[in-house]
Amino acid sequence: MQKSQLINGQFVLGQGAPIDVFNPATGECLTSIPEASPEQVEAAIEAAETAFEQWSQTTPKDRAQRLLQLADAIEEEGEALARLECDNTGKPYIAMLDDEIPAIADTFRYFAGACRCLNGSASAEYLEGYTSMIRRDPIGVTASITPWNYPLMMLAWKLAPALAAGNTMVLKPSEITPLTSLKLAQLLKDIFPAGVVNIIFGLGHSVGARLSSSDKVRMISLTGSIATGQKIAQSSTDNMKRLHMELGGKAPVLVFEDADMAEVVEGVKAFGFYNAGQDCTAACRIYVQQNRYDEFVSKITAAVATIKVGSPYQEDTEMGPLISQQHFEKVCDFVERTKKLKHIEITTGGHPLDLDGFYYAPTVIAHAQQQDDIVQQEVFGPVISITPFDTEEEALRLANDSKYGLASSVWTQDTGRAARLAARLQYGCTWINTHMLLATEMPHGGMKLSGYGKDMSMYGLEDYTVVRHIMSKH
Ligand code: NAD
Repeated sequence: MQKSQLINGQFVLGQGAPIDVFNPATGECLTSIPEASPEQVEAAIEAAETAFEQWSQTTPKDRAQRLLQLADAIEEEGEALARLECDNTGKPYIAMLDDEIPAIADTFRYFAGACRCLNGSASAEYLEGYTSMIRRDPIGVTASITPWNYPLMMLAWKLAPALAAGNTMVLKPSEITPLTSLKLAQLLKDIFPAGVVNIIFGLGHSVGARLSSSDKVRMISLTGSIATGQKIAQSSTDNMKRLHMELGGKAPVLVFEDADMAEVVEGVKAFGFYNAGQDCTAACRIYVQQNRYDEFVSKITAAVATIKVGSPYQEDTEMGPLISQQHFEKVCDFVERTKKLKHIEITTGGHPLDLDGFYYAPTVIAHAQQQDDIVQQEVFGPVISITPFDTEEEALRLANDSKYGLASSVWTQDTGRAARLAARLQYGCTWINTHMLLATEMPHGGMKLSGYGKDMSMYGLEDYTVVRHIMSKH
């Protein structure tokens, strides 16, 4: 197990306090890793700043070749990376191997191609006797801070476009799930010149805060909670850093009377409980038209009760544990508070499971009302709420009545209604008759308190560049 951090092309052990890293499927401590000292954080930032001089001048072709090499290495080490990620997060192994590893390799391949197609939009004489052209240039040292729910995938979403655009990076994974990021450091060490990628380790309020407040860092990309996003934004005002924020979500799912009910039930079961619901796009806030409401509650309850919860390595496991003791307690408290409301009915789940590790039963909460915390606040666990509505206007109003704005879905056979709603839903993504599916070519990112900036797609690459105007007198 890799415990060293990558700073300026060298593996070094942290000189700060040790932090225990756990297996959430058993509750056991896997290892203890010392965090980076303030001097080591500074050394990583300085290495990235020095490396920027040369890396920013490499050709897109050169950068693309290295990103492709890394994608190949990830695939070759796919099983080992998947095992490590499962040990550290409790995800089902098959899902990690079949869903995430290919998507992670594809992210590096996509940005390898995309950086060779990046172009400015104009080259012309807008003033007589002068030629203008537009460049898209790298920004400088980028700092990336990733969460625990998809550790390696979030690393890929940030590292790939940053490097492709010619930036250098200092990356800090979540202190809860550092293992695959530290292993990836081994794979990329010999592919990229020293200092281009630095991977450091530590807590958010120490290492993360030090990294994000450095004057030498020109951009921060964070996937994390709203509270962390706000802290980073506040500490970034002095030197006007560019920010790229993927924060939380509470996705509304609008189910109309003409929806194919079997597909809705299958979709909500799959996309509400994937990754134990620890997904910012999870299909968790369900609104169902009144005349199909009872039918939906009964069918989704029956379907969710069949979800197989267990060890990540059991072949038929569909759902693993929550990420940590602390998060487990948060989910338990949330459901216990919700149970006290008289109008609520827990139709399945609503309790921890009697297994080692941090397991919670897949839970359906019926008859939730709009002002309830379960409708307004992110649980980030295997818990969905269901609320009835009467009209299309009401459904739209309830869906948009949220501080979040990341993802939403509409389930109907009426294409006109789907288009009308898609145009008015205030979410970075709206799916029609599906949910949660991603394509590397398509942007992912939020509105409102879910943040700003796009991951993946050409928009993601552009976010890691600065638009410049060059004017030349004839
Ligand atoms: P978190 O905000 O607690 O931590 C995220 C990262 O920020 C960690 O690496 C942490 O160490 C770091 N951090 C914490 N405090 C910091 C500080 N003061 N300065 C700098 N860094 C700091 O979030 P989490 O609990 O790891 O992840 C879950 C959250 O992430 C959820 O709210 C979820 O919705 C969100 N999320 C969003 C997306 C998206 O694409 N929008 C994807 C995944 C997760």
